Order: sequence, then structure tokens, then C-alpha cells
Amino acid sequence: MISIKCPHCHVGLKVDERKLPPNISSFKCPKCKEAIPISLLYNQTEDDNDTIVITSRKLFTAGKITVSSDENTPEQTFKLFEGINIIGRKSQASKATIGVITTDKSMSREHIIIEVKKETKENYKHYLSDNNSKNHTLYNGNYLENGEVVVLNDNDEIIIGRTILRFNE
Ligand SMILES: [Zn+2]
Repeated sequence: MISIKCPHCHVGLKVDERKLPPNISSFKCPKCKEAIPISLLYNQTEDDNDTIVITSRKLFTAGKITVSSDENTPEQTFKLFEGINIIGRKSQASKATIGVITTDKSMSREHIIIEVKKETKENYKHYLSDNNSKNHTLYNGNYLENGEVVVLNDNDEIIIGRTILRFNE
């Protein structure tokens, strides 16, 4: 077990590092739902106050979204979680669960929805839809229709505004 503090809400967390799958770069804080980089696990603290124990593995097996860097946007990677993930331009007024740091104003604040559903014990499916965005969503080069839902496959490309996202299992 490793004790750390969430860098966002500062809650104490105990993480069983043996339960984390290899190759993940971050995990979700159970309190504030922000992503905590795995690298922080190696900055241990002795503080055990207000501790939440992370032992569940099922949080860590859904896919991820990588935002490509360009003149408006730094490269960013976001882990997807079971349930509804709302992705859009990060701002105070946004209800997005995944806020992309960008100056691309053609990206809506709540641009797309990716719903992650558990299919079998270790297998998730990822359902992408446009969230009625002003500038629509390109999925592998085609605009999504209003209400259209597609199942994401590894390495699919999603363009929101002028910004390129890539989905990986
Ligand atoms: Zn937190």
C-alpha cells in the first residue's frame, strides 16, 4: 500500500499498487473524480488522515482519449470511466467530466459523450455520440448525425472543433 494525497482535493488515499494494471498513466480520485498521475505514487507521504482505500480494479480497464497537440492545445491524455463521460473545452461554466485544456473556441464546452458500458468482466464498450454541438463531430472523417451512436474501436479518430482526439482501448 502506498499513501498519497490527491493533488486536486488533497484527500488522503491509500493505493494498493499491486492492484493497478500495468501501462496506465493515471487513475481517478474517488472523491473529486480528477485524474491523479501514477508518477505521484512514488512521492509518498506519511499522512494517514482522511484516508480512502483504493482496492477496486474495475475502474482501470476502460479506454482512454489522447488529445493531439497543436497551436491551440497541449497534448493531453484522459482515462475514460464506466458510465457517461462528457468531453469538451475546459472552462468554469462547463459540465464536462473531461475538460480539454485548449483555446480552440470551435470546441463546445460539452461537445461529445462517450458512454462506457461493461460488457463482460474485463471488457468495456465505448459508445460515442455528438452532444448537440454547434460545430458537430467528425468520427473517422465522417460527421456524426444527430442522435447517431457509434461503438469506438482502438485508434479511432474524433475531431471536435479543430482539435484531434484519438481513442485507444
Ligand atoms: Zn481528489
